[in-house]
Amino acid sequence: MNTGNPLMAQLALLDDTARPEDDWRVRTSTRARRLAVRVLPGGLVEIVVPRGTRPRVIEQFVTRHRPWIDRKLAQYRPLDRAAADGLPERIRFAANGESFDVQYADAPGALRLTVDGRTIRMSGPRARSILMRHALQRFAMRHAHAVLSPWLAQLSLATGLPFARLQIRRQRTRWGSCSRNGTISLNVCLLFQPPQVVNYLLIHELAHTRHMNHSARFWDLVGRIEPRWRALDAELTHGWRQVPAWVLR
Ligand SMILES: [Zn+2]
Repeated sequence: MNTGNPLMAQLALLDDTARPEDDWRVRTSTRARRLAVRVLPGGLVEIVVPRGTRPRVIEQFVTRHRPWIDRKLAQYRPLDRAAADGLPERIRFAANGESFDVQYADAPGALRLTVDGRTIRMSGPRARSILMRHALQRFAMRHAHAVLSPWLAQLSLATGLPFARLQIRRQRTRWGSCSRNGTISLNVCLLFQPPQVVNYLLIHELAHTRHMNHSARFWDLVGRIEPRWRALDAELTHGWRQVPAWVLR
């Protein structure tokens, strides 16, 4: 979804419930006299808002029309198995080029996830697809830690920017953050971004250990380590589209 729009950023409701493969846009219009919504192929939801409409009113409008919007969106989504029950048959991590086949076995009893080379085997009641998705999300979180932890440590050494601790989070709003005590948080969704973009984001967070802001001195430090930071940062703003739906749902 599009979070660059300031009005959009105030719609907490959408942030919590919109699917990442869909694109919600709020357009303020001087000519519109009432709120309107349309859904277009490719999962674009456009809400047209008369100038001066309060966010609360927009939220109520969206809530009222949500069943219709969701029905229209469903028509435009691909009908492959992954879309139908939210479970992928293949997982590809663009960050390091690794990919895994996912095999599901419908079996009674507790859910089990095992990793065997490049195959993830999941067994359990197939009807419990939500639990299977949660198990895959936990796998992705562990995998993100395994991939990003040595990467961050190596960059920290190379740049002379030490950090205290790494934690992996799963969220829709930020790719990473750095706290005052030096804890760097990275979004599991980075696994689905190209390596040069991930590398830039890691440098960005490491630079925050020295400057806790986006001042000119901060960007100067980032630019000395990664001169292409501007293009890479721009790439990250569109990076949500690369994240499969099962990761954030
Ligand atoms: Zn920052």
